[in-house]
Amino acid sequence: AMKTMCQDRLYLVRPKFFPHDEATARASGADDVLATATLCDGLQEALVGTRLVIGTTARSRSLQWPLLNPRECAEKVLQESLQGEVALVFGRERSGLTNAELDLCHYAVQIPCNPDYSSLNLAAAVQVLCYELMMASNASEQQLYIHEDDDPVASADQVEQFFQHLEETLIQISFLDPQNPKHLIRRLRRLYNRARPTQNEINILRGILTETQRANKLE
Ligand code: SAH
Repeated sequence: AMKTMCQDRLYLVRPKFFPHDEATARASGADDVLATATLCDGLQEALVGTRLVIGTTARSRSLQWPLLNPRECAEKVLQESLQGEVALVFGRERSGLTNAELDLCHYAVQIPCNPDYSSLNLAAAVQVLCYELMMASNASEQQLYIHEDDDPVASADQVEQFFQHLEETLIQISFLDPQNPKHLIRRLRRLYNRARPTQNEINILRGILTETQRANKLE
């Protein structure tokens, strides 16, 4: 479940057997994750050096822990992992985490499900949470890509100058009646702001406006 979602740092707390033939067989193809797992004597030892600890819970306990859903959990993990180590703590297949173990967690995450049947298999819970982590990190990588590209998103003042230019042009070509603007500019602002144009894109749009103004004067 972890490896399919690009996660590979597994810490095992006091496993009954390790390594174990059955575990290795079940991990087929992902046995490297198992082989490189870090063994710990207790949860506290596993958490040494972490900044943020999020525990998983199948049932709502007495509302002692601020509760996240998997998407919020992924956001938090991603933000925090820019600063340091983060741990997601899973419980035993039969009995989950004890309250004492959850006491070591800053947040609890619960996968929303059927209130009458809320306990997933451990591997299924790992899959869902790691999937959200991967989706969140793909999204943020894409954003980084846009920002780091050599065509950065236009600044607010560049976009503002474009809006001024747009309004001026629309008046010149009589598309916009300044006496009766009817929210046109506001609607256009919403449209262009949704697109988060880059500097090059703003240059193209302004180029079109300049040519439109020139052609209009030639008529
Ligand atoms: N009876 C236990 C169930 C354990 S299920 C309990 O009530 O906690 C085994 C592990 O899978 C849990 O410890 C947790 O890590 C994970 N898990 C199962 N269902 C989950 C859910 N709905 N939300 C978050 N984690 C869940």
